[in-house]
Amino acid sequence: AKEQGRGNHQFFRSDLGVQAQDRLDFESRLRSAGERGELRLHYQGQFDLQTEAIVGFEALVRWEHPQLGLLGPDRFIPTAEETGSIVELGNWVLRTACRQWRAWVDAGHAPVQMAVNISVRQLRQPDFVDQVLRIVREAGMDPACLELELTETGLMTDADLSTGILERVKAQGMRVSIDDFGTGYSSLAYLNRFSIDTLKIDRSFVREIGSARDSTAIVQAISALGSAMRLTVVAEGVETPAQAEFLRAQGCHVAQGYLYSRPLPPDAATQLLQQRGRD
Ligand code: C2E
Ligand code: CA
Ligand code: CA
Ligand code: CA
Repeated sequence: AKEQGRGNHQFFRSDLGVQAQDRLDFESRLRSAGERGELRLHYQGQFDLQTEAIVGFEALVRWEHPQLGLLGPDRFIPTAEETGSIVELGNWVLRTACRQWRAWVDAGHAPVQMAVNISVRQLRQPDFVDQVLRIVREAGMDPACLELELTETGLMTDADLSTGILERVKAQGMRVSIDDFGTGYSSLAYLNRFSIDTLKIDRSFVREIGSARDSTAIVQAISALGSAMRLTVVAEGVETPAQAEFLRAQGCHVAQGYLYSRPLPPDAATQLLQQRGRD
């Protein structure tokens, strides 16, 4: 039994060593994923609930890992945030999304909104606004068509600092949206202080429309709040016609979800824009 115990212990130790090495490999590979051309952006359409025309896209990042295959953001964004490589990754995402927008405009499509997720670590960079502006200009993007998606938890980690940054973002004509609204804790007072344009109702509430009374009430309350504050209200994760119908009745403006379209690689997103765009 003693022998076995020692054997196990050794095995356990070397196993930990392998895991630590794997993690380091994963982190350093992730750090250079952009340079290596392994990052991809998929685009999910956002649809006007009244006309069903496409009004925008949200850019969602994926990582084509040489061994592990196409990874969704939940598999690597947390690591990128921990190690700080999210800043460079986020700049890659922003640049790629802006260039895609430009390519669509150059191809003759009416301009749509482009929403890009911004992590709090990016927002906290002292030169965040300048970096964004430089990328926007270089890509030939209209700042008015760019929407930065921030989470309320991220904004609330330093609400005073956030307030100032959002004002500068707004002064440059860009739009600001609060992502996953209702899942963090922001006070209504701050909601009023932050210069924002859009509230995105989190998928967890939309999913339960009609089945859980609390979630249904939350969706109603957010829609009413958004309208009262003259904000655009976007519902994410819309999967059924019944959900869309309910949201429309609540005065919610825009829907995003599998009912309309999954996140699509650039070619398929371009096709969708051709079919459902306003031009
Ligand atoms: P999110 O910002 O809440 O993005 C929406 C997520 O919901 C996406 O997952 C999308 O594919 C998924 N989704 C959309 N419609 C539906 C639906 O009808 N049903 C279901 N079941 N799911 C739906 P995805 O692409 O896996 O992204 C996950 C999260 O990763 C995003 O959540 C966002 O927080 C983060 N993320 C994605 N791209 C970036 C990025 O470029 N930078 C940063 N910082 N975070 C990103
Ligand atoms: Ca988002
Ligand atoms: Ca969201
Ligand atoms: Ca969400």
